[in-house]
Amino acid sequence: MKNLIKSALCIFAMSFAVNTVAAEYTLKLAHTWPKGFPIFGTSVDDYAKLVSEMSGGKIEIKVDSRNKHKSAFGIFDFVKSGQYDIGQSASYYYGGKDPDTLFFTTMPFGMTAEEQYAWFYHGGGLELANEVYGKHGIEVMLAGNTGVQMGGWFRKEIKSVADLKGLKMRIPGFGGKVMAGVGATPTNLPAGELYQALERGTIDALEWVGPSLDLRMGFHKVAPYYYTGWHEPATELMYFFNEKKMASLPKWVSSVLKNAAKLTAYNMTVLSNHESGKNWSTMLSEYPNIKVKEFPQSVLTALKKSNADLIAKEYARSPMAKKIIDSQADYLKRARAYTEISLQSYLNTVAN
Ligand code: CA
Repeated sequence: MKNLIKSALCIFAMSFAVNTVAAEYTLKLAHTWPKGFPIFGTSVDDYAKLVSEMSGGKIEIKVDSRNKHKSAFGIFDFVKSGQYDIGQSASYYYGGKDPDTLFFTTMPFGMTAEEQYAWFYHGGGLELANEVYGKHGIEVMLAGNTGVQMGGWFRKEIKSVADLKGLKMRIPGFGGKVMAGVGATPTNLPAGELYQALERGTIDALEWVGPSLDLRMGFHKVAPYYYTGWHEPATELMYFFNEKKMASLPKWVSSVLKNAAKLTAYNMTVLSNHESGKNWSTMLSEYPNIKVKEFPQSVLTALKKSNADLIAKEYARSPMAKKIIDSQADYLKRARAYTEISLQSYLNTVAN
């Protein structure tokens, strides 16, 4: 009995020792979202846990949300300057820092998530992103995809292009530029400010994500028209790593950080898809006043033209932009031909 107690105590002491082992590498991470923000923010917390688990507790990541660092769109600068070792955000928030970063989140009328992941991992996309970010001392990894985002919440129905003239809309990235091309006034606001801006009429419309994250924001209470998507068919979040910091770490540490990011991206994509389906069914049953609309063909034609004009301008702007646009266009052409005879045909077949 005495021996039994002794060995039990010994096991307890050992497990206590394992649990309290001090991390050998402590890294600071900043993300764009409010603390505990579902999917986008919680996936970063999951990332930190995964890194700790994969490294047997030797790598610790301290996660700061925007509540702590107070700068939702400051992630690029935080990581570039080394103030933070790692960041998680969306690339298209940083067009003001480097216009070539706009291409690496999603493109209006562009690739679906499946096509875009194939481009990033096998079609040279991630290499191009690292070429752009490398100029700023940042290395990037993908962080997870929302899939097709909804076209947004509008206080009034959009019947023609004239209804977009002067429309104040929260819509970031290329989508915002395309909207500006048809006479709207795009703006970007962080998550925490969206509802109030829409309720007070500071903005007339906004796009956020889709059912996965829109439901809890309550936009349907102040803007009943919910349009289907065109501008963000595959929104990919991104991990930023300070290059110097990564180079200073042993190879196995940077390998854990990168591979955990890759796994986290997959997990976030699946979770986002799950939450979208779940919340969409809640929206349908509990909020019958939501009016789901597709933009009229005339509006979509104008948006496509605005997008094409913008791409042509970007094409001429810099050799890097040209290189990225060519890569995306070539890849989309090939990937889409396959999507058409596989996924699209399947959906058409089972719908009949
Ligand atoms: Ca969005």
